[in-house]
Amino acid sequence: MRTTTYPVAEIFYSIQGEGRWTGRPMVFLRLAGCSVRGCHIRDVCDTDWSHGKATSLDGIAAQLEAFPKSVPVSITGGEPTDHNLTPLMALLKGREIHMETSGVREVGYDLDWLTVSPKTVGYKQRIGGALKIVVRPEWAWVEIEALEKDSQFSYKYLQPMTSGSLPLNTAQVIGMVLERPEWNLSTQAHRVWKLR
Ligand code: SF4
Repeated sequence: MRTTTYPVAEIFYSIQGEGRWTGRPMVFLRLAGCSVRGCHIRDVCDTDWSHGKATSLDGIAAQLEAFPKSVPVSITGGEPTDHNLTPLMALLKGREIHMETSGVREVGYDLDWLTVSPKTVGYKQRIGGALKIVVRPEWAWVEIEALEKDSQFSYKYLQPMTSGSLPLNTAQVIGMVLERPEWNLSTQAHRVWKLR
């Protein structure tokens, strides 16, 4: 009997709409809670991470049974590293494990893919698979450079904010990516596909 529980906001099967793995089916395991202070998009945070249901590892395993085992499990939040994920990692052993974090603390887990979407310049996890920066409409390169500084990622993404005028925000980010092509465009394509 495994006694560890996690505050699970939701577990669902969908298609990744952001970043490096856009278009890839995966299971999303969203944990509740976010300890990130000074998040630059907290005023428009569109993720409902405030409510979670205490769910045991057995309960999580039972829910995962409903979905294909061959697809990645993407651990997200809220801020997933607010929780001790070691027991969850043990549960998921043998599966492809992805994680998306703000990088608020260093991630010491054995992952197949890590996306860091920093929300403060002082974030700690500055290495990984993808750096994904959500761009506020009033931003210029200086804010992005401050977040990118001293980081080491295989892929770099800029993503428009979805609140306010999405077409204008998207046009701004497209212009930035064309200007500095080491960056890539990430959109929340799942919204266009009418998926979660
Ligand atoms: S770090 Fe993420 S979950 Fe937390 S407030 Fe910011 S956008 Fe929302």
